[in-house]
Amino acid sequence: MSEEKKLTTAAGIPYYHNEDTQSAGPRGPLLLQDFILHEKMAHFNRERIPERVVHAKGSAAYGTLTVTHDISRYTKAKIFDTVGKKTRSLLRMSTVGGEKGSADTERDPRGFALKFYTEEGNWDLVGNNTPIFFIKDPKKFGDFIHTQKRDPYTNCKSPTMMWDFWSLNPESLHQVMFLMSDRGTPYGFRHMNGYGSHTYSLINDKNERIWVKFHFKTAQGIKNFTNDEAIRMKAQDPDFAQRDLLESIDRKEFPKWNLKIQLMTPEQAKNHPFNPFDLTKTWSQKEFPLIDVGVLELNENPKNYFAEVEQAAFAPAHVVPGIDYSPDKMLQGRILSYPDAHRHRLGVNYEQIPVNRCPYAVNNYERDGAMRVDGNGESNPNYFPNSFDSIKADESYRGIPLELDSQTGGWYDRNAQGENDHYTQPGIFYRQVLSDYDKKELVKNISFSLGLVSGPKKEDIVNRQLCHFFRADIGLGMAIAQTMGVNVEAAMKDVQHKEPVPAGA
Ligand code: NDP
Repeated sequence: MSEEKKLTTAAGIPYYHNEDTQSAGPRGPLLLQDFILHEKMAHFNRERIPERVVHAKGSAAYGTLTVTHDISRYTKAKIFDTVGKKTRSLLRMSTVGGEKGSADTERDPRGFALKFYTEEGNWDLVGNNTPIFFIKDPKKFGDFIHTQKRDPYTNCKSPTMMWDFWSLNPESLHQVMFLMSDRGTPYGFRHMNGYGSHTYSLINDKNERIWVKFHFKTAQGIKNFTNDEAIRMKAQDPDFAQRDLLESIDRKEFPKWNLKIQLMTPEQAKNHPFNPFDLTKTWSQKEFPLIDVGVLELNENPKNYFAEVEQAAFAPAHVVPGIDYSPDKMLQGRILSYPDAHRHRLGVNYEQIPVNRCPYAVNNYERDGAMRVDGNGESNPNYFPNSFDSIKADESYRGIPLELDSQTGGWYDRNAQGENDHYTQPGIFYRQVLSDYDKKELVKNISFSLGLVSGPKKEDIVNRQLCHFFRADIGLGMAIAQTMGVNVEAAMKDVQHKEPVPAGA
C-alpha cells in the first residue's frame, strides 16, 4: 500500500471536513466562512478551458525517435546528427471537426502532431494523416472550418455546407477523395500514416537549403473501418481510438512509424510543373523517392490526460536550427495562428506547462503574464542588451536568406494559370493508387455523403461536385452519378450553363 498522505487545501493546509459543509446547526443554513466549500466549487466551475477550435478530440503518448540513417549532409539539426540518436517525443492524434466529446470514428482527416524535445529546443511537426489539405491559402481556413462544424441555424453538422464549400473550391478535390476513401475512417490511430504535409526546408552546416517533406509510415500496417463499421463503432465505443492506443501501450505493444523524407533541390523546385509549396499537391515518390531516416516508437502513456494531452500545445512555428520553413502559404498562415491559439486557450506562458516546456535551457527576456510559474527570471535583467548577465545572441544561429520570386507584395489568385490543375493528381490517385476494392468503397462513400445534401441548392451543389469528379476521371464521375441516380447529360448541361469550366480543367 502506498504511503498515507494528509488531505490538504490547495494552499497545503491540512483539513478534515471534505464531505460536510459547516452549517448553523445540523439543519441550518451553510456558513459563508467554510472556504473549503468555495475552493471546491469555484475550482470545479473553472475546470474546463476552451476546447481547441479544431482537433478538439485527441489522444497522445510519449515515445522515442531513433535515427537509423544518416541525413546529416542535408541538415545540421541536432536530432539527426548521429545514427542511433534517440530523442524523447510526444505524438497527439485527433479528429478535426468534432467537439471534445465526439466519436473517434467520424469520417474526418486525423491530426498527427509531434513534439520532439531536442537539445536545441522543441521541434513541433504538426501534420495530418494525409499528405495534402483542402485549401491552399490560410485566408480561407475559417470559412472552411465553419462548414465542418455546426450549422448556425440547426446547430447540426451539415453535409450541405461541406459539399457546397468543396464544390465551390475545386482545389479541395484531392483531399476530398482521400477523405471519402476508407482512409477517411482509420481503424484507430495506430494503423494510419502521418505526414508533415507542408513542404519545409533542411539547412546543412554549409548553410545550404533543400526542400523536404516528412512521412511517418505506420509499421502496424494500414487498417480502416468501412463506412458502415465506422458508423456502428460510433455507438459501440465512441472512444475507440483513445482506448486502442492507450491499451496497446499498457500491454507494451508499442506502435511504431517509420520516418522517411522526400527531398527536392531549389533548382528542381524552380522547374517543377506543380507548385511544390502547394498543400493540395503531393510530390511524386517516383520522382522524389522516399529516404529512410528513423523510427518513432510510442512507449509511454501520459499519467494525466488534462495535464499532458489537453494542455499539449503544438506549433509549426517551432522549428529548430537545421530545419526551416518554406513559402507554403498554409504553413505561413499556421506559423501565426497556432501560437496565437495557444495564447488564447492556455495563456501567454503556455510554454511553461510541463508537457510543453523545453527540458533544456530557456534564456530570454519575456517576463510576467498570467500563470508565470518558472521563477520569472528571478532578479536577473529583463532587458537586452544589458551589462549584467551572460546571455549572448550566438551569431552561428543567424538565419539564411530565402530567395523570392518577387520584390513586391501582391494578392495572387490561388487558382491562376499554372496553379489551377486540381484534377491530374486526384485522377492518378483514383486510377493508379486505389485498388478495385478501394475504388468501389470510394464511390459508395461519396455517393452516401453527397446524397445527404439537402435544401433548395441541392441540385446545383451535387452537379457542380459531380463535374469535379468527372474532370478527375470520367469513370469515377460516371460511377458516382449512376450510384446516385443522376441524369449525367442534363446535370452537365445545367452546370455548364451556370458556370463555365475553370481554365486548365
Ligand atoms: P506512388 O505509387 O509512388 O505512391 C503512392 C502513394 O499512395 C504511396 O505513398 C502509398 O503509400 C499511398 N497509398 C496507397 N494506397 C492508398 C490509399 N488507398 N489512399 C491513400 N494513399 C494510398 O505514386 P506517387 O508518389 O506518384 O503518387 C501518386 C498519387 O498517390 C498522388 O497523386 C497522391 O494522390 C497519392 N499519394 C501520394 C503520396 C506522395 O507523397 N507522393 C502519399 C500518399 C498518396 P502507403 O500505402 O504507404 O500510404
